[in-house]
Amino acid sequence: MQVQQIITIHADAPAKPALGQACNGCGVCCAAEPCPVSLTLLWPHQASCRALIWDEPKQRYFCGMVSDPARFLRWLPSRFNLAASRLFKRWIAADTLCDADVELSE
Ligand code: SF4
Ligand code: SF4
Repeated sequence: MQVQQIITIHADAPAKPALGQACNGCGVCCAAEPCPVSLTLLWPHQASCRALIWDEPKQRYFCGMVSDPARFLRWLPSRFNLAASRLFKRWIAADTLCDADVELSE
Protein backbone atom coordinates (compact mmCIF):
# COMPACT_ATOMS: atom_id res chain seq x y z
CA MET A 1 0.00 0.00 0.00
CA GLN A 2 1.34 3.43 -0.92
CA VAL A 3 1.28 6.12 1.73
CA GLN A 4 1.08 9.70 0.48
CA GLN A 5 2.62 12.59 2.37
CA ILE A 6 3.16 16.25 1.62
CA ILE A 7 6.64 17.56 2.43
CA THR A 8 8.15 21.01 2.06
CA ILE A 9 11.57 21.28 0.45
CA HIS A 10 13.65 24.30 -0.49
CA ALA A 11 13.02 25.29 -4.11
CA ASP A 12 16.76 25.15 -4.89
CA ALA A 13 17.38 21.77 -3.26
CA PRO A 14 18.92 19.17 -5.57
CA ALA A 15 16.65 16.48 -6.95
CA LYS A 16 16.52 13.31 -4.93
CA PRO A 17 18.82 10.67 -6.42
CA ALA A 18 17.71 7.09 -6.94
CA LEU A 19 17.85 4.65 -4.06
CA GLY A 20 21.45 3.50 -3.57
CA GLN A 21 23.03 6.47 -5.34
CA ALA A 22 25.30 8.95 -3.52
CA CYS A 23 23.49 11.19 -1.06
CA ASN A 24 23.34 14.75 -2.37
CA GLY A 25 21.70 16.45 0.60
CA CYS A 26 18.30 16.81 -1.05
CA GLY A 27 16.69 16.61 2.40
CA VAL A 28 13.70 14.51 1.34
CA CYS A 29 14.28 11.76 3.92
CA CYS A 30 14.58 14.11 6.89
CA ALA A 31 11.67 16.25 5.71
CA ALA A 32 9.46 13.19 5.51
CA GLU A 33 10.41 11.28 8.63
CA PRO A 34 12.77 11.76 11.58
CA CYS A 35 15.70 9.31 11.65
CA PRO A 36 16.61 7.23 14.75
CA VAL A 37 18.92 9.99 16.07
CA SER A 38 16.09 12.48 15.83
CA LEU A 39 13.52 10.08 17.29
CA THR A 40 15.82 9.29 20.20
CA LEU A 41 17.06 12.75 21.08
CA LEU A 42 14.93 15.50 19.58
CA TRP A 43 11.55 16.25 21.08
CA PRO A 44 8.90 16.93 20.16
CA HIS A 45 9.18 14.67 17.13
CA GLN A 46 8.30 16.44 13.95
CA ALA A 47 8.63 16.18 10.22
CA SER A 48 10.51 17.85 8.91
CA CYS A 49 13.22 17.20 11.49
CA ARG A 50 14.21 20.41 13.23
CA ALA A 51 17.89 19.56 12.83
CA LEU A 52 17.52 19.64 9.03
CA ILE A 53 19.45 22.75 7.98
CA TRP A 54 19.52 24.41 4.58
CA ASP A 55 22.99 25.49 3.46
CA GLU A 56 22.51 28.40 1.04
CA PRO A 57 26.11 28.58 -0.27
CA LYS A 58 26.23 24.83 -0.92
CA GLN A 59 22.62 24.66 -2.09
CA ARG A 60 21.92 21.50 -0.10
CA TYR A 61 20.67 20.36 3.27
CA PHE A 62 22.83 19.06 6.04
CA CYS A 63 22.22 17.47 9.41
CA GLY A 64 22.58 19.82 12.34
CA MET A 65 23.07 16.87 14.68
CA VAL A 66 26.29 16.16 12.80
CA SER A 67 27.49 19.73 12.21
CA ASP A 68 26.73 21.12 15.69
CA PRO A 69 24.83 18.77 18.00
CA ALA A 70 25.13 21.08 21.03
CA ARG A 71 22.91 23.55 19.19
CA PHE A 72 20.06 21.07 19.47
CA LEU A 73 21.06 19.26 22.67
CA ARG A 74 21.23 22.02 25.24
CA TRP A 75 22.38 19.57 27.90
CA LEU A 76 25.43 18.50 25.88
CA PRO A 77 28.66 20.04 27.23
CA SER A 78 30.46 21.82 24.40
CA ARG A 79 33.61 19.72 25.00
CA PHE A 80 31.61 16.67 23.82
CA ASN A 81 30.30 18.36 20.68
CA LEU A 82 32.90 16.83 18.37
CA ALA A 83 32.56 13.34 19.82
CA ALA A 84 28.76 13.54 19.57
CA SER A 85 29.05 14.78 15.99
CA ARG A 86 31.19 11.79 15.04
CA LEU A 87 28.84 9.39 16.79
CA PHE A 88 25.77 10.79 15.07
CA LYS A 89 27.52 10.82 11.71
CA ARG A 90 28.17 7.09 12.01
CA TRP A 91 24.70 6.46 13.41
CA ILE A 92 22.89 8.07 10.50
CA ALA A 93 25.54 7.11 7.92
CA ALA A 94 25.57 10.74 6.75
CA ASP A 95 26.83 11.56 3.25
CA THR A 96 26.92 7.95 2.14
CA LEU A 97 24.26 6.36 -0.08
CA CYS A 98 20.64 7.34 -0.37
CA ASP A 99 18.48 4.88 1.56
CA ALA A 100 15.19 6.73 1.18
CA ASP A 101 12.82 4.54 -0.81
CA VAL A 102 10.29 7.22 -1.72
CA GLU A 103 8.70 8.37 -4.95
CA LEU A 104 8.20 12.06 -5.46
CA SER A 105 5.53 13.91 -7.38
CA GLU A 106 5.06 17.66 -7.62
S1 SF4 B 1 19.67 10.07 1.99
FE1 SF4 B 1 18.62 10.37 0.03
S2 SF4 B 1 16.73 11.47 0.50
FE2 SF4 B 1 18.13 11.69 2.26
S3 SF4 B 1 19.26 13.62 1.89
FE3 SF4 B 1 20.50 11.94 1.06
S4 SF4 B 1 19.90 11.83 -1.09
FE4 SF4 B 1 18.30 12.98 -0.05
S1 SF4 C 1 18.79 14.15 12.94
FE1 SF4 C 1 19.81 14.72 11.03
S2 SF4 C 1 19.71 12.88 9.75
FE2 SF4 C 1 18.22 12.63 11.40
S3 SF4 C 1 16.28 13.36 10.55
FE3 SF4 C 1 17.26 15.09 11.61
S4 SF4 C 1 18.42 16.18 10.05
FE4 SF4 C 1 17.93 14.13 9.26
